[in-house]
Amino acid sequence: MSIRVGVFGATGRMGRTVCAAVVGDPELELVAAVDPHHGGLDLRPAAGVDVDLHVLPAPEALTEIAVDVVVDFTDAGAARENLRWCAAAGVHAGVGTTGLTDDDLDELRSLFTTSNCLVAPNFAIGAVVMMRLAELAAPWFSSVEVIELHHDAKIDAPSGTSLLLARRLAAAATDREADATTDRVLEGARGAVGPGDIPIHSVRLRGMVAHHEVLFGTTGQSLTIRHDSYDRSSFMPGVLLAVKAVGGRPGLTVGLDSLLDL
Ligand code: NAP
Repeated sequence: MSIRVGVFGATGRMGRTVCAAVVGDPELELVAAVDPHHGGLDLRPAAGVDVDLHVLPAPEALTEIAVDVVVDFTDAGAARENLRWCAAAGVHAGVGTTGLTDDDLDELRSLFTTSNCLVAPNFAIGAVVMMRLAELAAPWFSSVEVIELHHDAKIDAPSGTSLLLARRLAAAATDREADATTDRVLEGARGAVGPGDIPIHSVRLRGMVAHHEVLFGTTGQSLTIRHDSYDRSSFMPGVLLAVKAVGGRPGLTVGLDSLLDL
């Protein structure tokens, strides 16, 4: 029996790609699409998929539809409301929306008791592997900085992936050189101060999709680990994996690592 999937943010950049990926997967069935400003629209032109559905204006409209899993690619404010609805309705959720805080994750942990929630700031499997490799390298270098580069329409900075990356780097190694900069000629020249005081530099450029770079340095050598998503299709294998797995992962799961067995 196929898994019945709903998509929040169905007419957005990621939502449209998710709708197409779900439609293309024989184990899944796209049964609902939600997007408040596009309610009532035929999903064919709205999301570019050949499915006989109309866009729903709000999650409440899903009440009449048997949905197993919803995927949320909206914005943090919308996702908070959508996920409260999912938890109350007992629907599993796969969340790609970034900008959720630790407090939000704590709330999700307490809300999702009868259904499950998986939040992944980056669904690209290569990015998940990059984080694991960076964690392994961290204890061997005395300094580390993170650069994230995204398209110019991204509304949050730094990226959720860079924050998670810095958090994991901070947990993997604490013995780092202090920043020697005392004279910041321009405010922000050394980037934002992330978890573990790790600098995070955010670049926004038209033409980019999602790119993350970890730069490690120590005496006489450096190591750069970089992941590039060139296209939104790069996130789809991870999204589909999450949609299929979330039903078997009680409570809140953060990140794809546990699904990849890294
Ligand atoms: P987008 O093109 O702006 O799409 C967001 C869509 O959500 C829009 O169509 C928006 O409608 C809709 N929306 C707003 N409020 C909603 C609500 N309450 N319910 C349902 N839909 C709602 O943005 P995007 O580029 O697709 O990115 C979406 C999110 O995914 C961002 O947070 C981004 O950082 C994240 N992202 C994550 C990954 C990952 O791997 N985890 C990868 C890429 C992007 P209106 O435009 O009409 O408001």
